[in-house]
Parts: sequence; C-alpha cells; structure tokens
Amino acid sequence: MKRQRLHAALSDIDQQHLTRRRTTVDGFVEPGNRVVTAVDGRTLVDFSSNDYLGLAHHPAVAAAMSECALRYGAGSGASHLVTGHGIEHARLEEELAAFVGRERALLFSTGYMANLGVVTTLAGRGELVLLDRLSHASIIDGALLSGARFKRYTHADANAAERMLEESSEDVTVLATDGVFSMDGDIAPLSQLAKACKAHNAWLVVDDAHGIGILGDTGRGSVEQAHLTPEDVPALVGTLGKAFGSFGAFVAGSRDLIEFLIQKARPYIYTTALPQPVAAATRKALEIAQREPWRRERVLALTTRFRKAAREARIPLLDSNTPIQPIMLGSSQAALQAQQELLDEGFRVIAIRAPTVPRGSERLRVTFSAAHTEEQVDALVEKLSQLRARYQTLCETESE
Ligand code: PMP
Repeated sequence: MKRQRLHAALSDIDQQHLTRRRTTVDGFVEPGNRVVTAVDGRTLVDFSSNDYLGLAHHPAVAAAMSECALRYGAGSGASHLVTGHGIEHARLEEELAAFVGRERALLFSTGYMANLGVVTTLAGRGELVLLDRLSHASIIDGALLSGARFKRYTHADANAAERMLEESSEDVTVLATDGVFSMDGDIAPLSQLAKACKAHNAWLVVDDAHGIGILGDTGRGSVEQAHLTPEDVPALVGTLGKAFGSFGAFVAGSRDLIEFLIQKARPYIYTTALPQPVAAATRKALEIAQREPWRRERVLALTTRFRKAAREARIPLLDSNTPIQPIMLGSSQAALQAQQELLDEGFRVIAIRAPTVPRGSERLRVTFSAAHTEEQVDALVEKLSQLRARYQTLCETESE
C-alpha cells in the first residue's frame, strides 16, 4: 500500500464499523479473581476471556512464575536451539506429552506459531492441504505460508472433507481442523475425519486450543472426548494461554514428528525461547488442573446453567456445549451496540466482527470460567434477555 493510502484505508475500516479498539485492564478488583476486572476505573465482570479454569490468577501459579524468575531470570536469552532451552521447558514438555499420551511434545512460543510450524513443516509446494471453512487464522496462515495449495470444506462437514480427499488429483498431505471452534464453540467431527485421513494417508492436525483442559473424561480435550488414539490424531496442537491460564503452546506426537519439527519448523527455530518462568507457571497450572477436576466440571456446569436459562428467556443459542457461547447479532453495528449496552451494565463481553467471523455472523462471544459465580451468569442472562427484546436480529437467529 502506498503511504498516502493509509489514512483513507483506516477511514474505510471505520465506516464499516470494523475498527478494532483495545481496552486496557488496569487492575483486578478482587486479587486472584480474573473475572472481576477494572477498566477505565470501572468494575466489570469479564465474559470474554479464555481463562476457562480460572487458573491465570491462581496464587500458586503466580508464585511458581515469580520463584522461577528469581532463580532463572525473566528471559531465556536465545532460541531453543542456541542457548535458550532450559530445565523448566524440558520438564514441561515431558509433562505435556504424558498428559496427552504422546511420545513427545514440543513447546512453541504461541499457538499461532505452533500452527504455522506444524502446517508449514508437514506440507509444501505441489501438495494439497484441506481445512475447515472456519479454521483459526493461524491454521490458514500456516497453509498459505507452506506453499501448498489449500481447499476449505464446509464447516464441520466430514462428508465434504471426505469427498475432497477422494476426488482430489493432488496428494493431500494435511487435513487441519480446530478441535473446538474458537468463535462458534462447536466441536469438529473428529472420528470421521480421523477415519478419512487414515484411509487417504493424510496427516490429521487437530488444534485443540479450546478443548484441552476442559473436554473428555479427564480433560485431555476433544480428542479424548471422541475416544481417539495418537494413531488417529498424529499431530495435536494445544495452547497454554487459555485453560492453563499462562502462555505458549505445544505440538504433541510421535518421536519422529517432534524431531522433524525441531529440525525444520521455522517458527520454532528462529525465535527466542519462551521465558522459563512461563513454563514453570504452566507446569503448576497443569498440576492443579489435574488435581482439581472440579474446575472443569464447574465451567461446564455454568455453561449448562447459562444455556438452560437462555433457552427459557428465548435467547437464541448456537449448538455448542463448550464454554464458548456465541450470541449472534448479524451485523457489526448491532454487535458493537450490544457490547456497549452490556458494558454500561458492568459486563465485559466482546463483539466479534469480520474478518474474524464471516460477514452477517457478527456476534457477542460469551465465554465462561470456573471463576464465575452462578449469580454472575444469571445476571448476564437477565441482561441479554432485555437486549433480546430490542435486537431484531437476535430474535430472528435460528436457535439450535
Ligand atoms: N488456535 C485457536 C483455535 C485459537 O483460538 C487461538 C487463539 N485465539 C490460537 C490457535 C492461537 O493461540 P495463541 O493465542 O497461543 O497464539
């Protein structure tokens, strides 16, 4: 873009009600309770964070981070392959591999980079990558950067994916999908995708950013919930900045897969290693998440409570049983207005607009945390129910 165009481009974004603005959290009203935050001097209940298990502010997690910082320093000083790989990284990788039942796990600085790393390493020029139409941006960017051609199948439609696998004249190397879709909260048809990938000898990459720590009998995520084995899902991505309340991500898989990523994945190789205190905090969070299954049970119970009350209040819901509960508004303007009205009542619920979601499916993205109270959830439903009376689109949206 020419320099002179920049200002006009910003105006265009604004006219479409698509300007993104940051709000700055300037404190937590109750220390240790992330859901009650202070923004611009106001107290708000946060219903948009991904801190599903309420671990981001856990005193033991924060203590693990600060103790490690005093011992090993705040920064790792170099990339993993130079001198940045530390004992906390090594231990966390072992613990994550054990947690998800894989031979090895490899830490990445972010989930965005983990997806770039795994897709670019497994796919390349002359090959084909298949993606769900609602795949996370980082999966799409991985496919773009890989140099492979990529096609997107209808959202969560395993039959469509299977047809693409069968009919494609090119070699499909990778099929990548979110486990839980970040904006809709629904779960990918993993069993059927796994079967189809096996039959066509394609890598199934599952990004379980929003499932890990929450779903399945023991919180191992959407892959556990679907009763799939490491053989079924040979490349599993998990993020650590959501249910585990810290930061970073990992890819888990066979010894060879991880070794290959260490040799080839540029987003792993050419970046400074995650600070060790972050790894130490994650280790503590992982330990607490396993020791306290009530966190998982609680966030799911709050989700069920919300859905029941929302149905009674005739608030249209999508077909999601995860802590991600979108409320469709249908336009950027309506979504922003609803966000503002909720803000005025003390609720921090963020409007999600294009291009993060397709045009016409603008929404409020409501998420729950084990740290919410029943009263906070009920109060949100009450307010949404008042909004429903005024937002036509909210009433017209298909319910389940
Ligand atoms: N995958 C999905 C499905 C996500 O929702 C996100 C984060 N929003 C990421 C990957 C990226 O993870 P991170 O924030 O650690 O970069």
